[in-house]
Amino acid sequence: MDLQQNLRKYAELILKVGLNIQPGDNILLRLDEHGLPLAREIARQAYALGVHQIYPVFSDDALTLARFELAPDAAFDEYPAFFTDFTEGAYLSNFHLLSLSATNPELLKEVDPGRISRWQKVTSIAGERVMKYVMENRVKWSIAALPSPAWAKAVFPQLGEQAAMERLWASIFHVTRVDQDDPVAAWTAHEQQLRAHEELLNGYAFDKLLFEGPGTDLEVYLPEGHRWMGGSSVSPKGERFMPNIPTEEVFTMPHAYRVNGTLAATMPLSTRGRLIEGMRFTFRDGAVVDYAATAGQEILKDILETDEGARRLGEVALVAHDSPISQTGLLFKNTLFDENASCHVALGSAYAENHVRGKEMSPDEKKQAGMNHSITHVDFMVGGPSLNVTGVQKDGSRVPLLVNGRWVI
Ligand code: ZN
Ligand code: ZN
Repeated sequence: MDLQQNLRKYAELILKVGLNIQPGDNILLRLDEHGLPLAREIARQAYALGVHQIYPVFSDDALTLARFELAPDAAFDEYPAFFTDFTEGAYLSNFHLLSLSATNPELLKEVDPGRISRWQKVTSIAGERVMKYVMENRVKWSIAALPSPAWAKAVFPQLGEQAAMERLWASIFHVTRVDQDDPVAAWTAHEQQLRAHEELLNGYAFDKLLFEGPGTDLEVYLPEGHRWMGGSSVSPKGERFMPNIPTEEVFTMPHAYRVNGTLAATMPLSTRGRLIEGMRFTFRDGAVVDYAATAGQEILKDILETDEGARRLGEVALVAHDSPISQTGLLFKNTLFDENASCHVALGSAYAENHVRGKEMSPDEKKQAGMNHSITHVDFMVGGPSLNVTGVQKDGSRVPLLVNGRWVI
């Protein structure tokens, strides 16, 4: 594998498909030390495409960990207002968000969960104003991942650091189609397929979905006017961009108050520097009324107690079990990848684009329509080779969508 050549192709894919960069655009670039080689390649190509400014927002695992371990307790209850002002100022100045994510799935494993949860809450509340720009696609935004030694070792514990890094790079290049001759063309074809599923599902205008599998027997009503989305999103200027690379999902919003039954997660969830395993939920009238996890239950409890909307669903996404990511057979311990290997749902906020009037409705109208609101949005995986998903139309007729985890439409 020629890493340098693949980095160039990855950078081109991120700029042309991920952000769909236009002359005069600016980029707010989130990265850490592992992202520097890719970021430098992105910068050279971005300026050649007509970008005016790139503002790097740097973070570092060791700095983050030091703060969680050593900062005074009061530090976790306050969020400097200028962080939010800065980000909003950038969004209002034609800056678009690019996150190069090199997570360490277990960075905060030994940290006091109370600190994690307080900080999560403080940042979510303070960040709500700027999260809207992303949730409503007011700016173009894209997340792409790259390996860190810690992440690579978590995915390939049997390998040495160097070999694990190479394997993870190769896996990322494979599932992002960067290892194909023309990744941009491959994504154009892939996008058409996702859009075909989107149109088909929108055509049915299902009343509800039924999920059936081991530990799962769930009825999920969909709001009147819900809209399935797959592949790219659209900015206010009408520019199509790809929020997630990779993406294999078609997704919509569930009715926040009309979900009933049981749901079992099929993969661990890596979140807030911790792993939550063996999650099970019981829903009544849209809300989680009972839950359990075999590991990380206190983190799950914190998520569910974030606010009223955190106990309800804001997203339901269909992904075939034979997608390129599931075919790797890897557990990436990174939601960006794992959620694209499996059908998933999200606790928390719904995306405005998933409702025909999502961007126009008042908060009251949204509630009336069944659109969930929360300061959080946490995806977890519920798909697999034993999951069946059936769509039910208004007249009661049933349309099998996924059988044994695979598309049948
Ligand atoms: Zn999703
Ligand atoms: Zn999601």
